[in-house]
Amino acid sequence: MANNDDIAVGIDLGTTYSCVGVWQHNRVEIIANDLGNRTTPSCIAFTKTQRFIGEAAAHQAALNPVNTIFDVKRLIGRRFTDSTVQNDLKLWPFKVTSDHTQRPKVVVDYKGVEKQFSPEELSSMVLFKMKEIAENYLGKSIENVVVTIPAHFSDSQRQATKDAATIAGLNVLRILVEPTAAAVAYGLDKELTSRSAREKIVLIFDLGGGTFDVSLLNIKNGRFEVLATAGDTHLGGEDFDNRLVNHLVDEFKMKHGKDISQNAKSLRRLRNACEKAKRFLSQNVVATINVDYLYEGEDFSSDITRARFEDLNLDLFKSCLETVAKCLKDAKMDKSRVDDVVLVGGSSRIPKVQQLLQEFFDGKPLCRSINPDEAVAYGAAVQAAVLNGAGNHHIRDLVLLDVTPLSLGVQLLGKKMSIVIPRNTRIPASKEMTYYTSEDDQISVWFPVYEGERTRSTDNNLLGEITLCGLPPAPRGEVEVVIRFNIDANGVLHVTAVCKVSGVKTDTTITGDKRRHSKDEIDMMIQEARMYRAEDENFKKNIQAMNDFEDYAYNMRSAIKDKRMEGRKERAIEEAIVWVKANRSAEANEYEAKKQELRAICSSRFGYFIANLKLPV
Ligand code: AMP
Repeated sequence: MANNDDIAVGIDLGTTYSCVGVWQHNRVEIIANDLGNRTTPSCIAFTKTQRFIGEAAAHQAALNPVNTIFDVKRLIGRRFTDSTVQNDLKLWPFKVTSDHTQRPKVVVDYKGVEKQFSPEELSSMVLFKMKEIAENYLGKSIENVVVTIPAHFSDSQRQATKDAATIAGLNVLRILVEPTAAAVAYGLDKELTSRSAREKIVLIFDLGGGTFDVSLLNIKNGRFEVLATAGDTHLGGEDFDNRLVNHLVDEFKMKHGKDISQNAKSLRRLRNACEKAKRFLSQNVVATINVDYLYEGEDFSSDITRARFEDLNLDLFKSCLETVAKCLKDAKMDKSRVDDVVLVGGSSRIPKVQQLLQEFFDGKPLCRSINPDEAVAYGAAVQAAVLNGAGNHHIRDLVLLDVTPLSLGVQLLGKKMSIVIPRNTRIPASKEMTYYTSEDDQISVWFPVYEGERTRSTDNNLLGEITLCGLPPAPRGEVEVVIRFNIDANGVLHVTAVCKVSGVKTDTTITGDKRRHSKDEIDMMIQEARMYRAEDENFKKNIQAMNDFEDYAYNMRSAIKDKRMEGRKERAIEEAIVWVKANRSAEANEYEAKKQELRAICSSRFGYFIANLKLPV
């Protein structure tokens, strides 16, 4: 495949599903995967023989729960000891451990060997799958991408997402926040990019599979600014499925007098049926749930109405509106000032959710012309085209503004947090602060960098540590050190410290950040990712060769049926079929050799001697 710089794609790397879009022929196309689905599960599975990513991984989850990994977005860029990580891992069937620097590692059994993967590596596998989906469709190799992240992602979560893309062999043009991406998708439709467009306030309501995010944006002259965000990291479609499951578990108990709540397999089958019924109920008023042999040989069937489903979930739906109100309150914005309400995330298709939201905004029509589960990838694809220079004049003027989600600063004596860049500062941003030595004849200064809003630095997130040596000896408070924080367009932080008197300086990024992987580590992960991909390819080749051989043997068997004088061929074919059944994991060249052998026998024309040709003496 030839590389084509004109093509850049946008990837929505989601907690439960991911989506990829491309700007082509002056419009965005959302690209379907090999099964024809426009979103792909963010799921990776490891088995005794191979690795699966996407649909194939999700399909085998029930049989292999401990080695089927999902929700990686909840881990990326976080410490193992984070309370959210500790809470989440109680709910996961797979194992998560910590390395010596407190970075989380997911433990799996791959081909019979225990392996540990970082969240960056696992996310890179999903990103690579999305890259492959786009490449298969476009027939070109792709490197340049825009990847989206939630607006509340911290610096280390952004960095880690970028690292994941690098490991997948991608070049990140921009890390873009999801609500901005969704607004871009609609901004285009509504010609908001024109310089004359008036200011708009847009509320993005993003209710997905496992997360809920509300963001308030200001869009002016094609500029997008995040004013406030709110959300619930554990609310989404899966909770609505669970409510339905619990209801039906009770119904099963009433009908059959049996409790299935302790049987993982029955619950999983029921949950799958409930998820399908839930989607059906977004279009229809009644759905039938049928599960054969659900538990101890009993079939289960039940009709569920939309009204009942809504009733089961009403408190959760209503809590979404409380979050919307909180977001508006944080931004000190009255709801009447909101011009547009944009629906994002598969669960925002639920009619009751839409109805409640519309009522909250006094009947304002909601933006739903773009599929809600595709809006983020749509906007990312537009932004990718802008950055790649491939977009037309229509979108070139688009300037995207983003803000720092948390304040950034350094620790002073007594663990006091000194803020250098306050939260909600537009990025890219650059700011300097001057600090003074705290000791007489101090020859070096060490300062940790934190993000967060607490006054005691250690209550915030530690991002890294910087040491500046070679200060000139002088009484305390006399030597000046200028610290500059620089945040690039991706929200990535670089810190420099300079002592002008002695001329010493550090102009590194945050070297002490234990959560960040070093360049060497990333390079090693890139190598490993290539190795795993080569293994996947090899596996595919072996399976293909096995199918080929088996196919040939069966074809030959039906071709020679009812013919006489074919005994030897028949024997060879039967032997081949027995062999291939007993050898499902041989190498491709073995299958190919066996096939050649069989072909030689099957294509030879042979019979019996008709006479002894030796001439009589
Ligand atoms: P997302 O992560 O945005 O792709 O959203 C995935 C969630 O949306 C899953 O929980 C799906 O069950 C849910 N979902 C998708 N389509 C529908 C629909 N038509 N009605 C209700 N929920 C849906």
